[in-house]
Amino acid sequence: MDRPGVVVMGAAGRMGRLLVDLVAQADDLRLAGAVVRPGHAWIGQDPGRAMGGADLGLRVTDDALAAIAGAQAILDFTTPAVTVATAALAAQARAVHVIGTTGFAPADLAAITAAARHAPIIRAGNMSLGLNLLMGLTRRVAAALDARDWDIEIVETHHRHKVDAPSGAALMLGEAAAEGRGTSLDQLRIPAREGITGPRPPGGIGFAALRGGDVVGEHEVILAGPGERISLRHMASDRTLFARGALTALRWALDKGPGEYSMADVLGL
Ligand code: NAD
Repeated sequence: MDRPGVVVMGAAGRMGRLLVDLVAQADDLRLAGAVVRPGHAWIGQDPGRAMGGADLGLRVTDDALAAIAGAQAILDFTTPAVTVATAALAAQARAVHVIGTTGFAPADLAAITAAARHAPIIRAGNMSLGLNLLMGLTRRVAAALDARDWDIEIVETHHRHKVDAPSGAALMLGEAAAEGRGTSLDQLRIPAREGITGPRPPGGIGFAALRGGDVVGEHEVILAGPGERISLRHMASDRTLFARGALTALRWALDKGPGEYSMADVLGL
C-alpha cells in the first residue's frame, strides 16, 4: 500500500518545521504538502531547502485546499482561524486532522465538533505523554481530596512568543481537576485575579500564567489544604516531544472512523 500522504499546515512555524522534518524522515509516511500563510517567502520553494536542508521533492504552497485534496492526514499547529478552516477541508477530504493549535473560542470548538462528523479529529492542547499522564493523576487526586478543604491552583510558564493564556494544557488540567470533583471547569473556574479580588471562592480552580524567554512549557497543579500542600509538576524540555506525539496520534487515527478524539484515547490512558 502507498504510504499515507501527510500535509503540514503552518510549515514555517516553530512546530511546523519540526513536523515537516519528522514526516520527511518517517519511512511509513509521505510528506504530501507543506502549507504556509499567503505571501510567505517560502512559497514555491522546496520545504527542505527552505529550512537549510536537503530537497524533499515538493513545493511549499499557500493553497490548503489543493494540498489537502489528495492527502490522508493533516498536522495542524497554527492559529484557531486557520485550524477551523482546515477542519472543514479535512472533513471534505475525509482526512485525519491532528490539531495541536490552542486558544480556541467556544464557537471554534463547535465548528471542529461539526467537522468531526465526517473525519477523525484528534485535538490536544498538549501532545506529550507525561502531561497526559499528569491529567489522569490530577483527576484522581482532585477526586480524593475534599473540595471544602483543598484549593486547586494551576500555574503554567511558557516562552515569550506564546499568544494565548492560560495554555491549552493548563485548561485541560483544570478540566481534569473539575472532573475529579464531579463537575466541569465552567462551574469552577476562577477569573484572572487583579486588584481587590475578595477571598478565594471555595472549591474554585484558579490559574496563573508566566511568560518569558524560551521556556518550552511547564505546568504545575497545586493542591493547597490545611497544613499541607501537594504539587504535581510537568516540565517539557524539548519541543520535538509535541511533534512526536502528533505523529503518534496521526498513525493511531489512520484506521479510525469519524469522531473527536483526545490524546488519552491515543495513548490508551
Ligand atoms: P508559530 O507562530 O511559530 O507557528 C504558527 C504558523 O502558522 C506560523 O508560521 C504562521 O505563519 C502559520 N500560519 C498563519 N496563517 C496561516 C495560513 N493561513 N496557512 C498556513 N499557515 C499559516 O507557533 P508555534 O509555536 O508553532 O505554535 C502553533 C500553535 O501550536 C499554537 O497555538 C501553540 O499554542 C500550539 N502548540 C501546541 C502544542 C501541543 O502539544 N498541542 C505544542 C506546541 C505548540
